[in-house]
This record gives sequence, structure tokens and C-alpha cells, in this order.
Amino acid sequence: MSGWSQEKREDIVKRLHEKGVNRPCPRCGGEAFSLVDGFAVFGLVNELQDEGVQNLVPSVCVACSRCGYLTFHALGPLGLLPKDLPPPPQNQQTVE
Ligand SMILES: [Zn+2]
Repeated sequence: MSGWSQEKREDIVKRLHEKGVNRPCPRCGGEAFSLVDGFAVFGLVNELQDEGVQNLVPSVCVACSRCGYLTFHALGPLGLLPKDLPPPPQNQQTVE
């Protein structure tokens, strides 16, 4: 994976700041963080025995520079979610 451009990183950090994401690390109280290149994608299931992922939640990852505690921010509230993101290929969701 090639790294993100400085422009992209600055845009994401700016969006986090605009949302008031400025508290110290909840684990060690450190105040220095770094954005980790790449999207973390959480796959959600309705039941643990489900074989298919029902929904995907892409997020950005911020790491505490002192202790490494990781926090994840979903892309939607940051305005980074593409409007026409295709559903996950394993999507087996049914309308009830
Ligand atoms: Zn920390």
C-alpha cells in the first residue's frame, strides 16, 4: 500500500479538528497523535454464525504517539463517505 498524500492527510486531520476531536488520549493522557495511512474497514454481521458480512463501516485510524492507543472515526460524519458506495459483495441483507 502506498501512503496517502500530505494533502489527503491534512484534509482528514482538518475534518477531525472541525468536529472537536482534540481531547488527550483516554489511556495515557498523551496529547500527540498521528493519523495512520489507510482506511480501517469494520465488517458487521447480524449474528455471530453469519457467514456473510451485512455491512461495512470504513473509518480512519488515529494512533496515540505515546502509547499507541487506536481510535477509529467512521467516514460518514467526516463527510468522507462516497454517496454511491456499492454494497459489500457478500451482502445478504433481506428486507423484512
Ligand atoms: Zn496514549
